[in-house]
Amino acid sequence: MELTHIEHIGIAVKNLEESIKFYESVLGLKCYSIKEVKDQKVRTAFFKIGQTKIELLASTEPDGPIAKFIEKKGEGIHHIAYAVSNLKEALKEAESKGIQLIDKEPRKGAEDFQISFLHPKSTNGVLIELCELKK
Ligand code: ZN
Repeated sequence: MELTHIEHIGIAVKNLEESIKFYESVLGLKCYSIKEVKDQKVRTAFFKIGQTKIELLASTEPDGPIAKFIEKKGEGIHHIAYAVSNLKEALKEAESKGIQLIDKEPRKGAEDFQISFLHPKSTNGVLIELCELKK
């Protein structure tokens, strides 16, 4: 598959507002978008550094996937998202190489992205998101 760049790094946080403060007042970045993704029980905040983004993820429910992640591992890096030139083909290739896919088909992500996740069991413990910009 052909990766073009790191699209974003997803970071699980307990408190979105408190974490935004750190990124703005210490790292000097500007939060340009806050969005709730209802079916993932998550609120997200985005920052940009060059063409890479930081995506903060905070759970909206105690039983959401991000809440469970923090319970197990604490706050920290949740996933790395690589931009690919062709997501469908990348998934086919990964599957043919024995990689466990969380999403067998691309699904709609934030902004105009199609996304899919590879299972951390197949990727040395790192949850990998592959994404392709579809306008
Ligand atoms: Zn992501």
